[in-house]
Amino acid sequence: MASQEIEALSSALARLPGLGPRSARRAVLWLVKHRESALPALLEALAGVAETLVECTICGNVDTRDPCAICTDPRRDARSLCVVEEVSDVWALDRARLFPGRYHVLGGRLSALDGIAPDDLNIASLIARVADGAVDEVVLAMNATLEGQTTAHYIAERLEPYPLRVTQLAHGLPVGGELDYLDEGTLAQALRARRPVG
Ligand SMILES: [Zn+2]
Repeated sequence: MASQEIEALSSALARLPGLGPRSARRAVLWLVKHRESALPALLEALAGVAETLVECTICGNVDTRDPCAICTDPRRDARSLCVVEEVSDVWALDRARLFPGRYHVLGGRLSALDGIAPDDLNIASLIARVADGAVDEVVLAMNATLEGQTTAHYIAERLEPYPLRVTQLAHGLPVGGELDYLDEGTLAQALRARRPVG
């Protein structure tokens, strides 16, 4: 039987997305084996995240400051907003600086199955950002999943009253494709060929 400490670490790790109890136990064993070489860096990184990371109150991105580095970067076009489901999508699009504007992170997608309604997402704050006329184009960069597309349609409808260009990523994204898993070439192509919603 494993010690209490090992059990505690295993069950903490098992809660991470993509890790189940089995992978968590393997990770713990690896950490125990490499505790001198790997643990100090891991502890430092975890403490750094716990101490410094905050959610940007403008766009929902995660950064060490609020507003985040993207929202405060004067070289970015503030009149162009790219709406994504998750922070990981910002990272995917921004790895190669594919999008020159700013972002808005919804924090998920509409889902009847999971009981996720519009009020559960950062949609009101998106409407507030465009309502004062500071934005010319909104690019809907939802995943090519059923829920992602449902979310995109819903937001496009909510944006209809405003004098905006609302576009979405071009088809060519693989169906079921999540932005996070796409290579830069595919993402860049989908952005370049973005088309009006409707
Ligand atoms: Zn921000």
